[in-house]
Amino acid sequence: MRENRESSKGVTCCACGSSIKPVLILENFKDGWHIMRCPQCELTFVHPQPPLEIISSYYNGMYSDLAAEYNEQQMLWAKNSVKGYCSILDKHKSEKTHTLLDLGGGLGYYSKAFEEAGFSVTLVEQDPVSAKFAKKVLGMSNTIEKSTEEFFADNHNKYDVVFLRHVIEHSTAPDVLLSEVQKCLSDGGVLIIETDNNAGIELLFTYGTAAFYTNLYRSSFLPSSYFSLMVKRPFSVDPPRHLYGFRIPNLSKMLRKNGLEPVETKCYRLGHPVYWPNFQSPTLRDMLSNIRHLQVKRFVANTIHIIFLPFRFLLERVGLASGICIYAMKKDTRDSR
Ligand SMILES: [Zn+2]
Repeated sequence: MRENRESSKGVTCCACGSSIKPVLILENFKDGWHIMRCPQCELTFVHPQPPLEIISSYYNGMYSDLAAEYNEQQMLWAKNSVKGYCSILDKHKSEKTHTLLDLGGGLGYYSKAFEEAGFSVTLVEQDPVSAKFAKKVLGMSNTIEKSTEEFFADNHNKYDVVFLRHVIEHSTAPDVLLSEVQKCLSDGGVLIIETDNNAGIELLFTYGTAAFYTNLYRSSFLPSSYFSLMVKRPFSVDPPRHLYGFRIPNLSKMLRKNGLEPVETKCYRLGHPVYWPNFQSPTLRDMLSNIRHLQVKRFVANTIHIIFLPFRFLLERVGLASGICIYAMKKDTRDSR
């Protein structure tokens, strides 16, 4: 089943359930996969979606270059992030929490870090290269090489925590995904869900991401100038990779619709030590090295980074930074009996 459902009346928004006439945000002049927005809840999505065979061919072996060797830094970042996740989970989970499902967990660094933090972890990853890396290199024996849809089709287990990090924006039917997640959570279990912030403008104030996104949209969409991207905010819908762009209110709405109550909500900047660690700020040492080696372009990029840093902290405070994370709890049905 693919969302948003189209009928003779129009389109049904999968976040707010309204029958809508989607608003065109950016027109895709290359493939016709336009970026649209729900006028009711501002859910942003690709419409029409690319064919399924194009979407699935995009993922096969996508991490092959990264999977070549174990990355110690990546592991350290994941361990530090998991400490942050656990400090929030400790406030909300029950004492017995010990099983965790990492859905679409890629190479498995987060799975490994959760395992080392005491969880019994199941990793689901459809990319064969990534799944092999998780099994052979990280020793994640409980790795299931399946898509989330294939996994849910024959899963009968319940989990205390489901970890869904930067997966939902790739889904062709995010509300179906959340309803399946709800079913496989134990009563009182917690979903940790992260995605890009469609309301955010921070991407346009860091040198590398601003260039990446302006070039990306310029190659297939109109309008795509820096200022129109700032006003339209298509972030970071990018077919066939990202099909949906969420904001805290519409993601919270979709969670509630599927029996998951948000208990803690975060908006985070690129480089946040828990949520986006693999984006490091330049140090004074880096800048001095740039001068010594006459790396003019890199010195300018690092200087821009430093100048905008306080502004990006401010964007984080007001909910306009690049990522969002919601901890949502499945109602304990035993309480209502
Ligand atoms: Zn909507």
